[in-house]
Amino acid sequence: MKVPFLDLKAQYETIKEEINIAIQDVIEHTAFAGGPYVSKFEEAFSEFCGSSYAIGVGSGTEALWFCLLGLGIGPGDEVITVPNTFIATAEAISFSGARPVFVDVDEKTYNMDPNLIESAITSKTKAIIPVHLFGQVADMEPIMAIAKKHGLYVVEDACQAHGAEYKGKKAGTFGVAGAFSFYPGKNLGAYGEAGAIVTDNLELADRIRVLRDHGQARKYYHNIIGWNGRMDGIQGAVLSVKLRYLTTWNDKRRKNAYLYNSMLKGIDGLVTPYEADYGKHVYHIYAIRVKERENVISKLAERGVSCGIHYPVPIHLQTAYSSLCLIEGRFPIAEKVTKEFVSLPMYPELTEEQIKHVVKELEGVLASM
Ligand SMILES: *Cc1c(COP(=O)(O)O)cnc(C)c1O
Repeated sequence: MKVPFLDLKAQYETIKEEINIAIQDVIEHTAFAGGPYVSKFEEAFSEFCGSSYAIGVGSGTEALWFCLLGLGIGPGDEVITVPNTFIATAEAISFSGARPVFVDVDEKTYNMDPNLIESAITSKTKAIIPVHLFGQVADMEPIMAIAKKHGLYVVEDACQAHGAEYKGKKAGTFGVAGAFSFYPGKNLGAYGEAGAIVTDNLELADRIRVLRDHGQARKYYHNIIGWNGRMDGIQGAVLSVKLRYLTTWNDKRRKNAYLYNSMLKGIDGLVTPYEADYGKHVYHIYAIRVKERENVISKLAERGVSCGIHYPVPIHLQTAYSSLCLIEGRFPIAEKVTKEFVSLPMYPELTEEQIKHVVKELEGVLASM
């Protein structure tokens, strides 16, 4: 039996007819760039999240970047985030002109440790970007309290947390804005590239709408220097169909995670994901921790089980960020867990047989080491 890390084809098979009709519809109406299919999705997505506005853009990276630009963050400013995230979080900060400042994470949730934020705040700090890593919301209550005390914006990187909850409220709705990615492999994935910002702040929403459309509020009258960051119509239509299944798919991911948890419990030297009791984890990634991670992954691959690593190198140790002069040892928790992460196959369509197979092969690999 082969178990892929991700199986987008399996999901397509379950919604093929609806998707094909939706795409055909966009083509018939030639509504390719922005337009009514994007607006319709924006309305549905803001309602799903429980926020006033959603703005569809080209990617999650762009969503983060536009949030910072829309808030007026730029050169000379500092933005606090975590080192164990996808590079896009830091890229968005850098491309706004600001400087990323990292704080270490909590060893259980792998999310921003609120206790470490205040010592990273300087007179230049403008915003905090907590990342809801793997589908679990960061500890937002203390983060919001610190931001309020110091007059800082909070922009949530919710790119892995569509539908995740914290104390009954959805990811992306705690800060002034939340950024989402609809990269195909995400819990809500487009059939191409797409992203969105959710916010309750009308002024910010309007600024981002202008930014994503070449700085024009009226065609060919450009008040600011913007960008082409529109979502395309086909993605809007596909996402509108898929959004209706998101809660069901997230529930299946949770069920799969609990099956993994129960079967992996008690294996020596293996750490299963921790779900904080404050929220609802949506398991975009099901990451375990083991020693000799590379060895485990290659042996599992030989046995037909494909795994991933999210992410092999924390951002402060990436060559791209060598100019920050942050050396190994600076963020010990992020560095430690990063070396041990193995992402097991995780998607809603994963079957019980597949999960049992993954666990059996993993036990075999660990016993052989
Ligand atoms: C996927 C992702 C992004 C970027 O989204 P894209 O749509 O790929 O640009 C940003 N941050 C995190 C944490 C992500 O997982």
